[in-house]
Amino acid sequence: MLAILGIDGSNGEGVSIGMNVVSDRLGTKDIVKVEDRELSQSEVDVLAVIAPEATINIIRDYTVIDKKRIERPTAVTGVLSCPNRNCITNANEPVNTRFMVLDEGLQCNYCGSIVHEDEVPTYLDVA
Ligand SMILES: [Zn+2]
Repeated sequence: MLAILGIDGSNGEGVSIGMNVVSDRLGTKDIVKVEDRELSQSEVDVLAVIAPEATINIIRDYTVIDKKRIERPTAVTGVLSCPNRNCITNANEPVNTRFMVLDEGLQCNYCGSIVHEDEVPTYLDVA
């Protein structure tokens, strides 16, 4: 999941991930720990779509300084490319992609194409 975001630790960033950590409240949940790095809002939005039950721990000097429950956004901007090749967002126009988050997936604001959640990694376009 973090490799998708390009923060796999290869830049000297300390990153640790705990997936499916047992929690008495939720049964299991995903925990994303990021050391010495703040996540941008787009990255948090992407995580929220891929892992809606995840918690992000921001760690500095081996201490958790921030803990965020990821909240599912109502829309994501500039993080997914549209699967419709004829969409204006794929036409080299200076248009930021924008997808509305619906129950059935993410819907392009411009052409109405739907990206289902299991297809999200395919269309991720995080700079
Ligand atoms: Zn589109």
